[in-house]
Amino acid sequence: MTSPPINWAGNVTFRARQVHSPSSVEELRQIVASSQSIRALGTGHSFNLVADTEGDLVRLDGLPPRIDIDRRASTVTVAGGLRYAQVARELHQEGFALANMASLPQISVAGAVATGTHGSGNGLRGLATAVAGLRLVGPGGRLTELRRENPQDQLAGAVIGLGALGIVTDLTLDIEPSYDVAQWVYDGLSLDRLSDGFDEISGAGYSVSVFTDWHADAAQIWLKTRTDRPGAGRPGDRWLGARPADGPRHPIPTMPGTWCTVQSGIPGPWHERLPHFRPDFTPSSGAELQSELLLPRAAAREAFVVLRDLGDRIRPCLQISEVRTVAADDLWLSPAYRQDSVALHFTWNEDTAAVLPVLAAIENRLVPLGGRPHWGKLTTLVPEDVIGRYERAGDFEKLMAQHDPAGVFRNGFVDDLFPRTS
Ligand SMILES: Cc1cc2nc3c(=O)[nH]c(=O)nc-3n(C[C@H](O)[C@H](O)[C@H](O)COP(=O)(O)OP(=O)(O)OC[C@H]3O[C@@H](n4cnc5c(N)ncnc54)[C@H](O)[C@@H]3O)c2cc1C
Repeated sequence: MTSPPINWAGNVTFRARQVHSPSSVEELRQIVASSQSIRALGTGHSFNLVADTEGDLVRLDGLPPRIDIDRRASTVTVAGGLRYAQVARELHQEGFALANMASLPQISVAGAVATGTHGSGNGLRGLATAVAGLRLVGPGGRLTELRRENPQDQLAGAVIGLGALGIVTDLTLDIEPSYDVAQWVYDGLSLDRLSDGFDEISGAGYSVSVFTDWHADAAQIWLKTRTDRPGAGRPGDRWLGARPADGPRHPIPTMPGTWCTVQSGIPGPWHERLPHFRPDFTPSSGAELQSELLLPRAAAREAFVVLRDLGDRIRPCLQISEVRTVAADDLWLSPAYRQDSVALHFTWNEDTAAVLPVLAAIENRLVPLGGRPHWGKLTTLVPEDVIGRYERAGDFEKLMAQHDPAGVFRNGFVDDLFPRTS
């Protein structure tokens, strides 16, 4: 008997009665047709029960690894179970790029998109906004295709779908010509400077992250600039009191910098600079929990005050916190829906009992500022309070009913957000 599957962090043991690994879409369709309750599992990098089920779980990494570039349409159609690392490598070899990536390239495209995964950049929207089309296996094994150009398909509702509309077999993503990025790390930013200079910092590059423990005046700025855009250089040897790092850095101070993508301003392909973590090393620390809230960007300074105020409580449970920005989009369940956002992320120690009270204290004070939790990370909010923050939640519920009237693709996570009516 094989042991039950667990998520990447090891804090969730999936309750599925069976795990399937089809090797063709036809086989997947038969599995779906014969199941009363089924979910897809991506690479299992979520920290909550979003992928869990007591029914069947299906992994798509055995399906043909389709990567079809349409040069005329500037799109690529990829198998949903592929990891961004594979897709990015192949795209770059063919002279193309994605606009954005998350901090790690190891996650599956379908799973990342389904939970509203994002990178950082004032002008960069979440990864799901690149989706121009989806193909999914619905109830009874029926194949459905949703396209951005067909308004009746309501792709904007379906993309961040929490796995609840069906099993996504392929996604069509917008692409652009390949580009290079240079990455610099600055050490020693004070928290006052972070607060006063946040607009300057977040606007200084194509993609910018700040790492801090909300306690010491030793924040790090990770600045990623596109070499094909004006102002690609770094700000100088002294920037808001911070200094260029004297060697490779990891966001978590105790971890090796060599596990991270190349820094020191050496230009390289987009997919080897936009993620912080390299595909061939463990991303982050590997022994952790994560939470994240997205707030209106205008609330950033107020949020920093709260987090500094809670710094003494946060620090004992924290490995590192990351501040990013995400541009507004129109996807119904996007945490950045119609809101240019600041994303406040926490990499916590693997100690749920110690972390949850601190997370509750953070959420108590930040959610009133307009915070929406990341769909794939921990939150202490009750489901009504999460879904109450989405004005298109009712439309998403209708979309679920239309695609999946019997609730075959629902799970406890989705039922808690959208209670069944009968
Ligand atoms: C170290 C680390 C770093 C991270 N960094 C970032 C970051 O930079 N930015 C960010 O926003 N998030 C980040 N995350 C969170 C992560 O991006 C999300 O949890 C994402 O969902 C992971 O993708 P996955 O393939 O592991 O999805 P899973 O956790 O496997 O699944 C997530 C959801 O997608 C659904 N799903 C998966 N595949 C399919 C499919 N084929 N069809 C339909 N539904 C499907 C599942 O049912 C589930 O509901 C990070 C996580 C870790 C562990």
